[in-house]
Formats: sequence, structure tokens, C-alpha cells
Amino acid sequence: MRLLIMGPQGVGKGTQAALLSKNLDIPAISTGDIFRYNLKNETPLGLEAKAFIDKGLLVPDELTNKIVKDRLAMDDAKNGWILDGYPRNESQVEALDVMLKELGTPLDHAIALNADRSVLMERMQKRAEIEGRADDTPEIIAKRLDVYAHETAPLIDIYRNRGLLVEIDSTGGIESISKNILAALR
Ligand code: AMP
Repeated sequence: MRLLIMGPQGVGKGTQAALLSKNLDIPAISTGDIFRYNLKNETPLGLEAKAFIDKGLLVPDELTNKIVKDRLAMDDAKNGWILDGYPRNESQVEALDVMLKELGTPLDHAIALNADRSVLMERMQKRAEIEGRADDTPEIIAKRLDVYAHETAPLIDIYRNRGLLVEIDSTGGIESISKNILAALR
């Protein structure tokens, strides 16, 4: 199964992607995690992306599309995957369309997780305390939510119009949200 998991920061995309990965035996691919790995290891990609990530801005499409293309071409992605944090704008949707066409593997569903802003802020605050992510300061969180509202939220309509959207309420327990997602995919 080939899936996108979408929704604002703090809605639980990473957590749910990990559970789906286990349940469906497909890799969860997070562009944010790939960038963070490269930042930590100070690779050329990490150094190029750093200035954008530190400001809560999107890394340029050219760079981001290439890491996704390379990742989807890997062996463990042959039988499916869950993309978390990509696509983030319309140009990335188009780039993904081209990649999938070239691979001959259409997308099955786009899962949109929904939660109130107060729930998102609370979860991100908690994550900031636990993980100590450099981009989890109040200013950068606000910037990232802003970028999400302007550039990424409109993509949900694109996948709705294609008949691929599965919308899930992401308040409540982690396990019950995961069950709801799996039930909706079946
Ligand atoms: P995330 O963990 O998904 O919130 O991503 C953390 C940061 O990585 C974002 O604020 C962006 O700077 C960068 N990033 C992750 N995914 C993308 C993407 N699809 N396009 C551009 N930048 C991204």
C-alpha cells in the first residue's frame, strides 16, 4: 500500500506512521527525519537544509524532491510506503505525481489527521520537552503552523478531489486512532 499521512505539526503523523509501518509491514518515510539525520551528521545536504529548518521554512523543492525520489527507489520501498511530511506544497505534489508515474505505482490513499489547535500546541509543547528538537521553540512552532496553513493544508483538497482522502479525528488515544485509520483503509 502507498500512503501519504498529512496534517499539521503535532497532530501525531510520526506516531501513526510508525504504527502503520508495523501493521502493514511497509517503511515510514519522513522527510523531516531524513533532514534531521543529515543535520546531525553535518552532511552537505544537512548543511544546505539547515538555514531553512532553523527558521521553520520549507527546504527548497529541488533538494526535497530529490531525497524522496532516491528513497522511493530503494529496495524496501518496492511493496509500499507511508510518506510523512511530504508533499508539503503544490509543486511537490506535481513532483510526486511524476515519480509515481515513472515507478508505475499509483498512490492508494492520503490520510488526513485532524485535531484542534489547542491539542496541537499541547502535544508540540510536550514533544519539545521530551525530544528537545531545535525547531520546537514557540516562535518556530508558530512559523511552521503558519507555513502549514498557507502551503500544505490546501493539498488536502487536491487528494479529496482525486477521491483518495481518508479523514481521521486525531484526538484521543494513540491505539484507537490507529485502529480507526486501519479500519478506514480496509
Ligand atoms: P517535520 O519534522 O516534518 O516537521 O519537518 C521539519 C522541517 O524539515 C520542516 O520545518 C522543514 O524545514 C523541513 N521539511 C520536512 N519535510 C519537508 C518538505 N516536504 N519540504 C520542505 N521542507 C521540509
